[in-house]
This record gives sequence, C-alpha cells and structure tokens, in this order.
Amino acid sequence: MLPVAKMKLPSCLKGERNGLLPSSVLKNTGLSSFRLAEPAARSVKPLIVAAAEAGFRVWFTGTYRSLAGQVDLFTSRYTNSKVNGVRPVWWNNRRWWKRAGVAQAAKPGSSNHGWGLAADFCLRTPNSKKVLPVSNEFVNWMCKNAHRWGWSAELQSEPWHWRYVAGDDIPQEVLSYEEGK
Ligand SMILES: [Zn+2]
Repeated sequence: MLPVAKMKLPSCLKGERNGLLPSSVLKNTGLSSFRLAEPAARSVKPLIVAAAEAGFRVWFTGTYRSLAGQVDLFTSRYTNSKVNGVRPVWWNNRRWWKRAGVAQAAKPGSSNHGWGLAADFCLRTPNSKKVLPVSNEFVNWMCKNAHRWGWSAELQSEPWHWRYVAGDDIPQEVLSYEEGK
C-alpha cells in the first residue's frame, strides 16, 4: 500500500482557481521548465537531491497542469460513448466513460496538478536523457522517505503520482536543506 496522507492547502492558493494559477504562484522545480506551487517547488528540490544520493535520477512527466491541459488529458482518456463495465463520471453536463487501457484522469478543474501540488515522477537512465517509468525500487524509496519533505502518494493505482501535503508547514528537512545551501 502506498502511504496517503491528508493534504493541507498552502495559503498561496487561497482565492486562486484550479488550473488558472498566475505565474507568481508557480516556481521552478529546478528540472527543465517543470513548475509547482511555491511550497511544493521548494520541497521537491531536496527530495530530488536525496533521491539522486540513493541512486535515482528523478525526472517528471508532469507537474502543474493548466485547466486547458486538464481538459485535453481528460477528453483523450474518457469518451461520451458507453464503455461496458465502466462506471461513468459526470462532467460538463455529460456522462464520460474511461477508455480501456488508459490511466484515470481527474475531472478538469479538480486535479491536484491544477493546484501545482502534484507531480508525476519518472526516472532518467544513467548518462542519457531517456526517461523510464518509476521502478518498484524508487516507489519503495518514496514510500519510506517522501514524507520527510512533505510529500505523499494519492492513489494506489498511480505509483508515479505524488503530491505535496504539508501546506504552509514547510518540513524541517526542507528548511535544513535551504540553510545548508
Ligand atoms: Zn498525476
């Protein structure tokens, strides 16, 4: 089982709308142009460093996702045509069924990616820019360590998807990392 902790929303998101965050709220994670809400971006940096020390070259397949990006993802994975054996979800005044063989997607406007608090992790292979899905070893490492920087899993079906849950209570390990820099 992946550890799923309750999420606190950071105050920088107060009054903001999911998927419509202003760029002032979003900060660089240090990996390419992947951005997250300020406390999540801060806290993922020491996580990435510690993962590297443990032998995992962390990369992302997704972090902040705009509302338009959430709509694109949702409508690529869900259809208005009935899929047998699948329970439909209600969105935009219609019923939607998940297509076979794709991962779930949150209803547009409800994803933690839209709050800039969720990251989909992958791994880079040694000496190359190729990315691979997360390994069992990495997921086990995250299960043991991610909480140190305020991160938690969200769904048992998505071992690559983790989210920042500590709100404004920046974990001590994050503060120590920043002081040591
Ligand atoms: Zn995700």
